[in-house]
Amino acid sequence: MIFRRKSKDSGVQRHKPKCSFCGKLQGERGVRLVAGSGVFICSECISVANEILWGHNPPAPASS
Ligand SMILES: [Zn+2]
Repeated sequence: MIFRRKSKDSGVQRHKPKCSFCGKLQGERGVRLVAGSGVFICSECISVANEILWGHNPPAPASS
């Protein structure tokens, strides 16, 4: 017997990277993904991470 994979339910699209945190797909409006080691993070989650790490404002690039 040949087992056929349901193309309907296999939602894993290997060709389209998606954010490992929020699941946004690359190609959505305004979504930019940064690839890590086996994971991706989108710009939105990066800014959220920045808020968590640094407070509400990202660190100023040149603060003396
Ligand atoms: Zn994300």
